[in-house]
This record gives sequence, C-alpha cells and structure tokens, in this order.
Amino acid sequence: MRSYSLIAPAKINLYLEIIGDRPDGYHELAMILQSIGLADQIDVHSISTDSIRVHCNHPQVPTDKSNLAYRAAELMVRQFPEAFAKYGGVEITVNKQIPVAAGLAGGSTNAAAVLVGIDLLWKLGLTQSELEDLGGTLGSDVPFCVAGGTAIATGRGEQLSPLPSLDNIYIVLAKYRSLEVSTAWAYKTYREQFGHSYIRDSDNLAVRANAVHSGAIVKAVVNKDAGEIAQKLHNDLERVVLPAYPQVLQLREVFANQEGVLGTMMSGSGPTVFALFESQQQAEQIKLQVREAIIDEDLELFVTRIITHGIKVVSSV
Ligand code: ATP
Repeated sequence: MRSYSLIAPAKINLYLEIIGDRPDGYHELAMILQSIGLADQIDVHSISTDSIRVHCNHPQVPTDKSNLAYRAAELMVRQFPEAFAKYGGVEITVNKQIPVAAGLAGGSTNAAAVLVGIDLLWKLGLTQSELEDLGGTLGSDVPFCVAGGTAIATGRGEQLSPLPSLDNIYIVLAKYRSLEVSTAWAYKTYREQFGHSYIRDSDNLAVRANAVHSGAIVKAVVNKDAGEIAQKLHNDLERVVLPAYPQVLQLREVFANQEGVLGTMMSGSGPTVFALFESQQQAEQIKLQVREAIIDEDLELFVTRIITHGIKVVSSV
C-alpha cells in the first residue's frame, strides 16, 4: 500500500484535576479523557523523494516543522531509518474539522494518526503500546489519541488506564472562532494563583491540600450513568480561564440554563465548552437555542457524540 486515509477524532475532558507539581516542571494530573465524533481526516502517502511534506486546509495551522503531524513523521524517520530508506518520504494531508487551539487535542490526534499511518505504510507492525510510547515523546495527549475511547490519564496525562466504553451520549460543542487559550498560559496561571496552597506528600511531591477526587465520576463511567457523569464533570482549569475569558463563562452559563442539558464543562484548557445530552434530538434543539441566545457569527457550534475509538483507518490504496 502506498497511501492510507485515517480518521483522527478529537477528545474532551470529562474530568481534569491538577493534583500537584512534579519535579520535572509539569503538573501531576488526573483526567478522564473521552473521544468524540468530531474528527480530522489524515492522508499519509509514500513519495519517492526523501522528504516530509504537510498540507492542511486550515489557514491557522502551520505546515512546517512546528506542525505536530510533521513532528510525528520526523520521529518515525529518526526511529526507523532503514524503513525510511526503503519506502522513501511521506506526504501528509490534514483535512481539519476540529477547531484549532480549542482544548480538543486537534494537533495531538493528528500526530497519533501519522504514527499509525506510517507504521502501516512502512509495515513496521508496532503494537498499540509501542505507538503510545512514541506518542508520549511528542505530547501528553498523543498516547490517548492512538486508541481513544474512554480512559483515565495520570502523570502528565500520558499514563493511561482504559475505562469501559461509553455510548449514547450526545454533545454540543461551542467555541468562538477567533478566541484561543494557550495551554501553557492556563497551567502557568493556575500555578501562580493556586500553587502556594500545595503541601508535600510522602513522595515529596507538591500536592494540593484540598483534592477533588475522581472516584465518583469513575464510578459513574463504569455504571454508564450519563446523568451522574454529567453531574460530576470537573475541570480545575476553569478556575483560571473563566475569570479571564468572559465569553467562555457566558457559554457555560447559557448551557447551564437550558433545559435538557445533563451537564456542561470547559474542555482541557479551553476555550471550547461542551454540554452532554441523552439524545441527538435534544442536542440539536439546544444548539438552536444557544444560537438564538448568543447572536454572534464568531460562535461555532457542533453536535457530535461520544465514540469508542481513537485513530481508525478508513481506506488504503
Ligand atoms: P490540547 O487540547 O492538546 O491542549 P488544543 O486542541 O488546545 O490542544 P491544537 O489544536 O492542538 O490545540 O493547537 C495548538 C497549537 O498547535 C495551535 O496554535 C496550532 O497552530 C499548532 N499546531 C501544530 N500542529 C497542529 C495540527 N496538526 N493541528 C492543529 N494545530 C496544530
């Protein structure tokens, strides 16, 4: 095969707790990550020159070495020089549907798709765990994006424990097109504002004194109880993003006031806000109501659903 098309789904955070500071400068996290139907399409294609080329339909996404998909291909070239010499270069086309810098892991899922695609192109036969380990060197969300579904993520977010798959939960996503929140800014601001309240645990890790605990939402996920999951949604980064970005706060409030919304939360470091529903019909209805409540062409709204997979091959030639 000389070419593969892959679906690269976005993720939302059903839960994001900042547990404390790690000696390596990252935060220690406890998250529940969930794949959703909103996805990019990634085409990977072998080319005769020994180069990596990236094309993308989205003007804000770079196509040079700063693109995570490019960096994933570069990593494969470094790791498997013999396969690169045998099969030649790679051309990557990103058809972007996932909003950029939105807290939906758009770049990370593209990188995961490139790892999976090149593994197939070069017939490497890597295992899921090998692909996840490679992904972890590119970014904390990349390992999750490989297999997707529903998972607990700890450490920097790269240590995964799968949870039973959820189904039949529908989502409305809302994001202002021109509004971006830097993930680095959100974590840095959180540390500045709340880091002083950390205490040292028995491993000398600086941890927060008033932990939230993911036990209740994990139980709700295991029980596949959508209503209970929605009640236990949590994201510590809302503490810094909502006060700094009134538009995000407004979205949270507008969703919270609509009948039929099971629960609402900001995803990752934002600025995307999501709401959960029991049916697609309800989700479509609330999308219309939010559109009427906030008259602003900059506001993008998507209806999608929870899905049970990460990167998926859709065709090969
Ligand atoms: P996360 O949820 O993992 O924090 P995000 O959804 O907030 O990520 P991305 O969409 O991955 O953010 O984009 C973050 C930045 O990365 C953007 O400024 C964008 O220009 C850059 N970027 C690099 N490669 C990609 C890619 N393949 N797709 C989207 N953005 C990319």
